[in-house]
Amino acid sequence: KEQERAQQEKFAITGRIARVIAHEVRNPLTNILLAISQFKQGELPSYEESQLYVDIIERNCTRINQLITELLHSTRMSEMNMQAYIVNELISKTLQLAADRLQLNEIMVHKNFMLGDAYIMVDEEKILIALLNIVINAIEAMTPGQGILSVATELNNDKVYITITDNGAGIPEANKARLFDPFFTNKPKGTGLGLTSTQNIILNHKGAVHVDSEEGRGTTFRVSFPVYDQ
Ligand code: ADP
Ligand code: MG
Repeated sequence: KEQERAQQEKFAITGRIARVIAHEVRNPLTNILLAISQFKQGELPSYEESQLYVDIIERNCTRINQLITELLHSTRMSEMNMQAYIVNELISKTLQLAADRLQLNEIMVHKNFMLGDAYIMVDEEKILIALLNIVINAIEAMTPGQGILSVATELNNDKVYITITDNGAGIPEANKARLFDPFFTNKPKGTGLGLTSTQNIILNHKGAVHVDSEEGRGTTFRVSFPVYDQ
């Protein structure tokens, strides 16, 4: 009986994921097919018009491609390539990866690193993706020219804490429970897969992630990992 129920639950989840993916892929596909149909209507469109259609096709292909990449990141956790890294250096790399966006949006970055050279055992590539997703969300939540991003690290009870705080839009109470759900997004071009993969990656490192947010004031993501004793 117990096994049967688990099996049914699995089917239900698979069905839901299949429906969402079908929807997320079908929308851009419909756009692509519409653009192609313009080319097939006998007379060739003008140069400007055809550029427009090609742009639509390209944009929607990119969209599907991005969805698939993020979907893979959010589920596939095989081949973990673990090594010891200095936490502060991982954070610096993350900020480096976000440097263009930070600059473009004129965001001020406050750093408060209280870790010394504490190490964690991680797959660097995956951890950078996980942290970058949080930073990018923070950037997207803030008003350009007024953003302050605070990044802090500390060591407490054999755990490393990484705190990323923004002074952006904040998260409405009703959305808090769904943040990490696949495809939950309130952005017109969002995939809703960023935090899903972030959470999966962190959990796969025996870490944890907590969110604290107040609408209109900002959001704090607090990530923790077991410290690595050499
Ligand atoms: P996406 O960025 O594609 O929308 P994510 O999984 O990265 O997907 O985030 C899901 C949703 O969580 C976002 O659409 C946004 O509504 C909310 N969110 C995440 N981080 C923040 C933040 N720092 N401030 C406000 N809202 C956030
Ligand atoms: Mg995101």
